[in-house]
Amino acid sequence: DRSVRAPLPVLGRDVTVPLVTGGEVTYAALDYAASAPALQRVWDDVAAYAPYYGSVHRGAGYLSQLSTDLFENARVTVAGFLDCRAGDQVVFTRSTTDSLNLLATALPDGCEVFVFETEHHASLLPWREARVRYLDAPDSPRQAVTTLERALAGRAPHTPALVCVTGASNVTGELWPVRELAAAAHAHGARIVLDAAQLAPHHPVSVRDLDVDWVAFSGHKLYAPFGSGVLAGRADWLRTAEPYLAGGGASRKVTRRADGGVDVEWHDGAARHEAGSPNVIGVHAVASACKALTEAGFDGLAAREEELIRAVRDGLADVPEVRFLSLFGDDAPRVGVLSFVVDGWNSSHFAAALSAEYGIGVRDGLFCAHPLVRRLLGGEPGGQVECGATESLAAIRVSFGAGTPDEHVERFVRAVRELVRDGARWTYRTEDGRCVP
Ligand code: PMP
Repeated sequence: DRSVRAPLPVLGRDVTVPLVTGGEVTYAALDYAASAPALQRVWDDVAAYAPYYGSVHRGAGYLSQLSTDLFENARVTVAGFLDCRAGDQVVFTRSTTDSLNLLATALPDGCEVFVFETEHHASLLPWREARVRYLDAPDSPRQAVTTLERALAGRAPHTPALVCVTGASNVTGELWPVRELAAAAHAHGARIVLDAAQLAPHHPVSVRDLDVDWVAFSGHKLYAPFGSGVLAGRADWLRTAEPYLAGGGASRKVTRRADGGVDVEWHDGAARHEAGSPNVIGVHAVASACKALTEAGFDGLAAREEELIRAVRDGLADVPEVRFLSLFGDDAPRVGVLSFVVDGWNSSHFAAALSAEYGIGVRDGLFCAHPLVRRLLGGEPGGQVECGATESLAAIRVSFGAGTPDEHVERFVRAVRELVRDGARWTYRTEDGRCVP
């Protein structure tokens, strides 16, 4: 079991869960793409600090100073982790969703936004108040670039534009050609924001190298599950935007006017968008995860994930009922995320059987990427798919990363094979959207 030697040990590997079929088993968490477990190192760093937290930026006392130092040092750590340029800003948010919504409030007037229909809803939806162009799903990385180039070529010159693109799909795990898309955006005078929610936990992300203008990611997918996210990149749009939240911390000076109203001078640094008492423990955890990943390097993790992907694919290669979902082809480079459907099975029931009968946690559904999953399942991207009696519109996703033991993936492969061959030992029905035996 390689995880024993892994440089990135994680917590929560010894949770015992009961099986409906009797007995109990160690839980196999194969849902890293939703939330990854905490790294031991993150947990240790949080535990060492937790008794001493204080108010950030507001207190003269020792614990306030300690917290302020940790908070500001975390910005430096994250900027290093993302290889930011001089002058870039790191804004702490709650999550990727929060980061992209923040950026959406900072768009200059008249900004057009270009986004592929294949995006996670966090990347797809925040721009609805801007002029958004939704681009059709490409069937290769090359076509993604030409689709974007064509769309950008048609726009009015000298007007602001933003491209929003994922680095790795949360549905297929496939890597998108970020550097090429950034070059295309810039060649047409547009900016680009990278949704790195799924990329950052698996690959190094260099803002400088990829030449993206902003990057967003979430702590809880990066082994730091304490409710913190990041938006990092160019300061200019953020500096002139209205504060994302109005309140203390974002305001430099507030004065009462003669006419009874108030005048506010807002900060122009990251604090402008961080009103209120920040999640200092979450931010500390993100910085700790960034340090741990940087020290361990991503090569071992990427190689390990490839090995596990191969184990799933090879283990199920002779099970024709299992169909993996991909846009760019089964062999396209990807992170440790695979989605599939099983012919003749309702995906939610299949996932319920994996949990109840084998103690395996995967995700089922449309993965907050409805147009993409609809397209991959053969339906119209915008429309409803007619579903057969045993098939509702949903897929199953298995995902892994640091600390995933061989046994979890072996059990998953065995479980899928047995379920396809023998059927579930229990009957599952859907109640209030949840599957119950
Ligand atoms: N983008 C992608 C690609 C994701 O996978 C996710 C999470 N599933 C998000 C954005 C949103 O992340 P969060 O829920 O942490 O805001």
